[in-house]
Amino acid sequence: MEKFQIKCGSCGKTMQVSTEVLAPYSGRTIRITCQNPGCKAVQNLKVPVFKAAGADGNKTIIEANHTILETRIENAQKNNLNKKAFLVVSKNQKTESQLFALKDGVNTIGRYAGSPGAYIPDIAIRTSDTYISKKHCQITVTDNKTGGRDFILKDAGSANGTFHNQAKKALEKDDEIFLHPSDVIILGDTQIIFELK
Ligand SMILES: [Zn+2]
Repeated sequence: MEKFQIKCGSCGKTMQVSTEVLAPYSGRTIRITCQNPGCKAVQNLKVPVFKAAGADGNKTIIEANHTILETRIENAQKNNLNKKAFLVVSKNQKTESQLFALKDGVNTIGRYAGSPGAYIPDIAIRTSDTYISKKHCQITVTDNKTGGRDFILKDAGSANGTFHNQAKKALEKDDEIFLHPSDVIILGDTQIIFELK
């Protein structure tokens, strides 16, 4: 079976993950934990797009930008079917604190414009932060194979970008991020926290 090598940017240890394990996350950003007991660094890793699993005999080296690595993939969230997923919009000078429940399927997120005929997203944030587009990003809630649900964040063609946790770079057009409880999404000057309770 083809293996992908992943080098931990923190401890430098190289580990292997089979194509089979990575293939379901093709093109997505996954969370991994370095299995070196002295390291245990947790970081996001962008999985390359696989043309076809095992089609290419070459080994691909995935160099995580700073810290990394392991063989354990933390995405599949088990036992969360009885929990409700929420977005908590943090209060700031332009925005009051707001709470939104996420529904199954696609949830579009953006600024509530309030003008007749304007696009209204599923999660319509009342704010004067005009760096938030009316349709800014989306979270897809979907069942996974482990009996849980995954929460996948994607930009939706925003003018000013969607940022995840401490990332300095906005999500690219096709980036998909698996959200975990307490993850932070930043739109414009506004911070939104993902919660599962
Ligand atoms: Zn490490």
